[in-house]
Amino acid sequence: MQNKVTVLIIEDEKNICDFMATTLRAQGYKTITTGLGREGVSLTASQCPDILLLDLGLPDLDGMDVIRQLRAYTSIPIIVISARTQEREKVTALDLGADDYITKPFGASELMARIRTALRHGAQMAAGTAAGRPYRSGGLCIDFERRLVTVEEKPVHLTQVEFKIVSFLAAHSGRVMTYDAIISHVWGPYADDNNRILRVNMANIRRKLESNPAEPRFILTEIGVGYRMAEDEGR
Ligand code: CA
Repeated sequence: MQNKVTVLIIEDEKNICDFMATTLRAQGYKTITTGLGREGVSLTASQCPDILLLDLGLPDLDGMDVIRQLRAYTSIPIIVISARTQEREKVTALDLGADDYITKPFGASELMARIRTALRHGAQMAAGTAAGRPYRSGGLCIDFERRLVTVEEKPVHLTQVEFKIVSFLAAHSGRVMTYDAIISHVWGPYADDNNRILRVNMANIRRKLESNPAEPRFILTEIGVGYRMAEDEGR
């Protein structure tokens, strides 16, 4: 097949690299693997993969530098594979332009879901089709054009700010959005520390949308990083 999606895996831990490559090939993806950051950068340029799985702790080059070098010229989807559980690392990688992250240990289904989301988002960005069609997931519907939010067909009244937050997360559904990204989208890049105001708004949003705000189904918290909206089921 000529049109197989190609995944470049940059990971120096051989068993994790093999696990990902085997999983992906079983799903019909083509894989290229390397354990070195520099080689990963040059393979990205020479092989033009469709998506990158990137370990942060590499022997020759920090994963963050790989992201920096690639983002200077390409918007290829990058999913960071990290053993580091420190939120700061994840936030830094996302702020540098990574699309998402997955924390070791992870299973095959989680890996595949992340890849599908990142690929779909990349395709939407390229085609400019993300807006327009309503977002749907488990009874929640967001009509961006009519600015209408319904849960189980019942209209939900959101304030201007709440709608801005919800529609931003829905437009990037399935992907984690950092607190900073949300805040600068809603209040602008020069907003002061609005973390607390964001949390207050999120509590109000969940009270309006979720049947049990303590166990949200639609907007999930990624502790210390940001929020992730449930995957759009509308396609
Ligand atoms: Ca490593």
